[in-house]
Amino acid sequence: MIAIPYSRQLIEDDDIAAVESVLRSNWLTQGPTVGSFEQAVVEYCGARFACAISNATAGLHLACLALGLERGGRLWTSPITFVASANCARYCGATVDFIDIDPRTYCLSIEALEAKLEDAEHHGRLPDIIVGVDFAGQPCDWNRLIALKARYGFRLIEDAAHSFGAEYRGKRTGSFAGVDCTVFSFHPVKILTTGEGGMVLTNDPALYSALKLLRSHGITREPELLHRQEEGAWYYEQQMLGYNYRMSDVSAALGLSQLAKVDRFIARRRQIATRYDEMLAEYEVVRPWQTPEGRSSYHLYPVLLSDPAVRHQVFDHLRERGIHVQVHYIPVHLQPDYMRNGFARGDFPIAETYYERTLSLPVHAAMTDDEQALVVSELHSAIQQAG
Ligand SMILES: *Cc1c(COP(=O)(O)O)cnc(C)c1O
Repeated sequence: MIAIPYSRQLIEDDDIAAVESVLRSNWLTQGPTVGSFEQAVVEYCGARFACAISNATAGLHLACLALGLERGGRLWTSPITFVASANCARYCGATVDFIDIDPRTYCLSIEALEAKLEDAEHHGRLPDIIVGVDFAGQPCDWNRLIALKARYGFRLIEDAAHSFGAEYRGKRTGSFAGVDCTVFSFHPVKILTTGEGGMVLTNDPALYSALKLLRSHGITREPELLHRQEEGAWYYEQQMLGYNYRMSDVSAALGLSQLAKVDRFIARRRQIATRYDEMLAEYEVVRPWQTPEGRSSYHLYPVLLSDPAVRHQVFDHLRERGIHVQVHYIPVHLQPDYMRNGFARGDFPIAETYYERTLSLPVHAAMTDDEQALVVSELHSAIQQAG
């Protein structure tokens, strides 16, 4: 039985050896390997600071807290994302609103954002934070987002769960000056994995200190940070209410080993995407458009089918043949838990139409050329049968 997932991890012998060596050491929880992994990511991305965390959802929560989001605050993001990009606001007691997507990049639309900001300024309801999601691995138009930040005074979080190693204007995600925090996910379907895990990058030393405190109960032992005089070698202080969102050294060992070959993983994803572009040129599908300013890391390869009925039939056909296509995403505002909070069908029409036609084809570093050829030929027969 064939089974081609839309994405999956690629674990090799050296990854297993790296994890084994930590398992044989004295230190399993957050320790020296977490520090080494953070340093390696900082160097790879060209950022100043990195804080490893238990998963990207926790990272988004911490980024919101570090940026001061609280009850009554406002966070805006794209409806075409995983729910975590929006839920982080609600953990802080803040409210969520959405910006419709750009019909070409499927990232949040800068034009829609400009119009919404103008209106919000008029009504005294400007957002505190905007979360830009680098959808499918393609960076948002960060320069324009940063220009709007300068004009309206909100803070920027880059949800880079899809876009580790992607580039925008020649720089890697995580390094853009003007983005306050960048959050990566190391879930197994993402670009590199630690099992569960994530990382928050920032160039701001104050945000970095806040992130580190918040990730571990709000507790510090660092002598220069203590509020009171140390009472003995046992002494530590809880200085704010924090969480246990730490990464373990076991996970970090896997991350460090994966990072050493992430260029190969991304190159393979790009190669598969280029091949899809060529192989699908003749088909009745819309291929994912790429901005000349960026270079996607291709977490996803989403195509648009001609209409919702065809998408449904093609999805079922491919799934029946063991090709595990997926739909990314059901618009967040249409989730029951969001509709209960006042959102309705028709609120973000471009996102809704996109959702009804989209299908993510398999793309991952472990996929073979033969598997890709099979996906394309099955897609071809599925479209013919549906049409
Ligand atoms: C996967 C994902 C997350 C959450 O990542 P976890 O590490 O699983 O918490 C957040 N945002 C987006 C866009 C994602 O794809």
